[in-house]
Amino acid sequence: MNDKHLEALLLCPTGQDAKLIASVLQHDSVNSKLTKDLDELCQMDYENAGVIIVAEEALTKEGVDILNEKLSTQNPWSDIPIILLTSGGARSKQFKMKRLEVFVTSGNVTLLERPLQPLTLLSATQVALRSRRRQFQVRSLLESQIEATKIRDEFISIASHELKTPLTSLKLQTQMTRRQIVRPEALLPDKMRKQLDYTIHQIDRLNKLVDDMLDISRINTGKLNITKTVFNFSELLYELIERFTPQFEAVGIQVKSDIAPHVFGNWDSYKLEQVINNLFSNAIRYSPHKNVTIGLRTQGDKAVFNVQDEGMGIAPKNLERIFERFERVSSVTSGLGLGLYITRQILDLHDATIRAESELGHGSNFIIELPL
Ligand code: ADP
Repeated sequence: MNDKHLEALLLCPTGQDAKLIASVLQHDSVNSKLTKDLDELCQMDYENAGVIIVAEEALTKEGVDILNEKLSTQNPWSDIPIILLTSGGARSKQFKMKRLEVFVTSGNVTLLERPLQPLTLLSATQVALRSRRRQFQVRSLLESQIEATKIRDEFISIASHELKTPLTSLKLQTQMTRRQIVRPEALLPDKMRKQLDYTIHQIDRLNKLVDDMLDISRINTGKLNITKTVFNFSELLYELIERFTPQFEAVGIQVKSDIAPHVFGNWDSYKLEQVINNLFSNAIRYSPHKNVTIGLRTQGDKAVFNVQDEGMGIAPKNLERIFERFERVSSVTSGLGLGLYITRQILDLHDATIRAESELGHGSNFIIELPL
C-alpha cells in the first residue's frame, strides 16, 4: 500500500479548517472524501482509509455510539487513526466530559484544539498516516503468512497421499511374496522377477518423492548448489535414454531421437540428469502409447535440448503455471507438482531457460536452452 492509495475521510471540517486540512493532505499526496453526515461516514469503505478527520460538532451522542460500533468491527490488524478537531467553550467541555472518554478509549484518537496550527495538524496527520501504513504492512504480512500456511497444508495432504500410494502397494506386494514362500510351488522365478521389478519401481517412486521434497527445502533455504564440470551432454542423453527404455516400452511409447554427437558444456551433470529424468518421467506419465522425440543440437552459443510428446498436452493458460511450485494441472497427475519447478530452479543456476509449447490433446514440447 503506498500513499497514492491512502485516503482521508473527512467529517464536516469547514472554512479555514477545511482549507488547512486540504493543503496538509496535498503535501502528503493523500486524496480525501468529504461528508457532512456521520451515517455516511460509517457506511464508507475503510479499505484504503489512512485517517479520519472529524469536527467535534458533527458528533452527537448517538453519533459517538454509531462510530464506536463501526470501529469495533475493524479487523484485528486495523486501528484506524482518527483526528478529532475540538474547540474550547462550554459545548466542547460538555462533549469532553460526557463522551470523550468513551470515544478515546475505543479508538486511535488524537485531539487537536482549534484554531488549528498548521504544523500541529501536519505532524498529527503524518503520525496517523505512518501508523496506518504500518497496519497495512502487518495486514499484508498476515495475508502472506495465511497463504503460506494454506500452501503448506495442501502440500502435506498431497505429499501424504503420494507417499501412501506406493507404500500401500509395497505392503501388498510383500504380503503376496510372504504367502508364496510358504507355498514353494507358487515360487515361479518369472513371477518373482516381475514382482521384484514392481517393488523396485515403487521404491524408486518413493525415492523420487523424497528427493523432490529435499530439493524444495534446499531451494527454500538457498542451499541448492551446482558443481560444474565439462562433460558431453550427448553421452549423458544416450545413457539415460537406454536406462529409461524399459519404462518407455512398458507404457507403449516409441522413442525417436535426433542427438548431435559432441555437445560439450560446463554444467552440473548430476543436476542435468535430474532435469532429463523429470522430462522423461513426465512424458511417460502424460503421453503413454504415443511417440516421444528427443532432440539435442547446438545453435549459436547454446545447446538446445527438447523432449516432445504427442500426449494429452497442456492448456495455453497453464503453460507458465506448470513451472510454479505445487502446480498440477491435469486430473490424471500423480506427483507433487514439484518436478518442473525444481527443473527450472536447476536451469536458472546454469543461466539456462526452459519453456513449454503445447496444444491441448496433441502433445507438448519442452525446450531447454543451455549456454555452451
Ligand atoms: P508432477 O510431478 O505433479 O507431474 P511437474 O512439476 O513435473 O509435477 O508437472 C506439473 C504439471 O504439469 C503436471 O501435474 C502436469 O499437469 C503438467 N505436465 C508436465 N509435463 C507434462 C506433459 N509432458 N504433458 C502434459 N502435461 C504435463
